[in-house]
Amino acid sequence: MNSDMPIGSSIRTQAIINRYFLRAKKNLGQNFLVDLDALEGIVQAAEIKSNDQVIEIGPGIGSLTEQLLLAGAKVFAYEVDETLPEILQNELPAKINGVPIKERFKLMIKDILKADFATDLADFFDLTQPVKVVANLPYYITTPIIFFLNDTKLNFSSLTLMMQKEVAERLSAHPATKEYGPLTISVQTQMKVNLALQVKSKSFIPRPKVDSSVVVLQPLLKKTDVGNIKHFNWVVKCCFAQRRKTLNNNLKTLIPNTFQREALISNLGVDLHTRPEQLTIDQFVELARAIPIKN
Ligand code: SAM
Repeated sequence: MNSDMPIGSSIRTQAIINRYFLRAKKNLGQNFLVDLDALEGIVQAAEIKSNDQVIEIGPGIGSLTEQLLLAGAKVFAYEVDETLPEILQNELPAKINGVPIKERFKLMIKDILKADFATDLADFFDLTQPVKVVANLPYYITTPIIFFLNDTKLNFSSLTLMMQKEVAERLSAHPATKEYGPLTISVQTQMKVNLALQVKSKSFIPRPKVDSSVVVLQPLLKKTDVGNIKHFNWVVKCCFAQRRKTLNNNLKTLIPNTFQREALISNLGVDLHTRPEQLTIDQFVELARAIPIKN
């Protein structure tokens, strides 16, 4: 059954919840967005244009899906909750801008972390063209999803993702702040990160414990060459093992020889009292390159 009100209005969402005796599944991170301004903000942040090819992760009952479709996108959605296709089929409009919805929207019941984009999308998208990923993410797997998308061969032009505010702050952090750390560094070596908007917890049903933010990630034209990525991430992790200690202290496990360690730090152009969060990404790259790779 369709209605004139958008799915993302709180009245319509509540009506859908009541009609289907829906219980939001906490273990699947189900918090339905009921804020039309936030939905418009997400569509704008993703710069959705007519015929954009969009992958949506976790459409839920369709509040964001509907807005993406109305903005002209073709949407391929991954969802794990097997009870939702019936609701989506009944609640999304039968036609979008005069076109039958099945030409504009496809749903796959599958864990996004098991997606095989080349096969899954082949019949629906033109894979010679880039796609956009847009999602109000299930928060329990925010970072695995970001790394999964970055590591696959998916040709994406942007990821516009709603996530926990605290994770968004870590992704977009600058050096010398308390949010700057291993997550910031590994993501910013690959992608440009922009904080697009903040969304209060009251904008969801059920209301989560924390506020949220929408972040836009775009692949860097020239990704930072970190050398051996496993080694790089390991060095960064060791540097931040104890945030309150100096870089010199944290590096003791990796480079026990004091003379060698101090020489390495001074080669970075910083002094021995420097804390890990004060190093730029380029300095971490330089440091990792100077430390022998352990097998
Ligand atoms: N898009 C809807 C909205 O904005 O109201 C729902 C967002 S809700 C925060 C997250 C959605 O992701 C839920 O529908 C949940 O079932 C789905 N989900 C959870 N884990 C998933 C996974 N591994 N792969 C795909 N979807 C998943």
